[in-house]
Amino acid sequence: MISPRWRHIRTKLTLWHMLMLGVILLIYSASASALLLRHLRTQLVRHAIQDLETVEGLFYFTSTGRLGFHEDYHNHPESREVLERLLEVRSPDGEVLFRNTLLGNRSLGDQILPQEGSGGYSPREKILADGTKVQIVSRRHLIAGQPTLIRVAYSEAPIWQHFREELMVLIIPLPFVLAIAGVAGSFLAKRALQPMQQMARRAEEITGDRLHSRLPINEADGELADLARVFNGMLGRLEQSFEQLRRFTSDASHELRTPLTAIRSVGEVGLRKEVTPAEYRDIIGSMLEESNRLTRLVDSLLTISRADAGQLVLQPSTFPAIHLVRDCASLFEVLLEERGQHFVVQGDETLQVYGDWLLLRQALLNVIHNAIKYSPNGGEIVVTLGHLGLDRISISIEDSGPGIPLQDQEKVFDRFYRVDGARSRETGGTGLGLSITKWAVESNGGSISTVNVEGAGCIFRIELPGQAKAIS
Ligand code: ADP
Repeated sequence: MISPRWRHIRTKLTLWHMLMLGVILLIYSASASALLLRHLRTQLVRHAIQDLETVEGLFYFTSTGRLGFHEDYHNHPESREVLERLLEVRSPDGEVLFRNTLLGNRSLGDQILPQEGSGGYSPREKILADGTKVQIVSRRHLIAGQPTLIRVAYSEAPIWQHFREELMVLIIPLPFVLAIAGVAGSFLAKRALQPMQQMARRAEEITGDRLHSRLPINEADGELADLARVFNGMLGRLEQSFEQLRRFTSDASHELRTPLTAIRSVGEVGLRKEVTPAEYRDIIGSMLEESNRLTRLVDSLLTISRADAGQLVLQPSTFPAIHLVRDCASLFEVLLEERGQHFVVQGDETLQVYGDWLLLRQALLNVIHNAIKYSPNGGEIVVTLGHLGLDRISISIEDSGPGIPLQDQEKVFDRFYRVDGARSRETGGTGLGLSITKWAVESNGGSISTVNVEGAGCIFRIELPGQAKAIS
């Protein structure tokens, strides 16, 4: 299924890129503009202070006692500052002594504020009656020996005009910048994601029978190369599992076919010719023997498939190791007697095992059965119990058989592996016993290995969780 375009990583990356850039540019523009506004205001106040100093010297009282102002005194009468200056002079009791033409009837503050203009220049903001926002600077001053309060004000309108213009300069190109960033971002995202698309295309080609294919790894792709490596590792493991499964299925069918063929051919021979009742009994006997083998094989296959599916739930408990060994030996009493073999148990009989009784019993049965099968008549099987440290015990099963060749010692735990196929079948073996044993021991937290002296019998050593003294 192809995901909608807006869900593509490339689209998301591009949109995020544009959004982040947009936010950054907006924050930048807003802070730059705020700084500019502050700077312009400070300048306006500074200018007003300077102007106030000039203005102070230009007042005079006329012969009629009215306050006059030398407007013409200024060097540049038409300069913008002079033209935009708002000027008001009040007596200490608040009476208006002078207002310049530009200020007209408007007031720069009806009341004289406490401390206004005394001890230096007092700057403040004010919105006049007509809505004009101004910066005012006041100072108390003696004109011809008479105390007055002089207020000089400048409208903030030009500052705001300047501010708006600057803001426009910053904001108008924003959509274009974002569009360029979007195109560039999309291009970069496309390039960065190209190896991923290649990987996806290659992965699409990998099917159950093409599991040997691997994704291309280009070290220059950094994290994507790591991802490809991880995928390839996973493919390797899958390939191995598929191969094991394939081998297992073919081995299992082969194993199942052997007794079935035997049953069929024995039956066919029996039907083809006239046979005596004794011969019939023989035929039925060998058919039963083969069907027993078939049953054992199917049971083992069932155990293995349950184990593989993780369906077996362990029920661990603590029990004496000697009980486990004796219980297994009792099942082989008749066989041991038939073959004149001796079964000896030695070592620490107080050892306690911690594990699932049934599973460990199955494991030990397989090993002891092998020891009996492969030991000659009259041979000896010795089981030794020992402990390793505080929380592990060992059960060693030693026989007097031919032993296992060195190169086969690890492989005997593989499914369907037999050192000597013909001999194993002869003794009714399925080639699955030791693989089940290994699984059973390991699922109980233990391990199994062979300690082998080639040609002089072999020792299977099982290590399990447990302890030396009985738990009270
Ligand atoms: P099987 O049912 O054929 O005995 P196992 O999985 O139990 O299968 O054993 C695998 C192979 O390991 C056997 O076919 C045999 O060749 C070898 N083997 C196992 N136990 C012994 C032993 N005690 N002595 C010699 N060979 C053994």
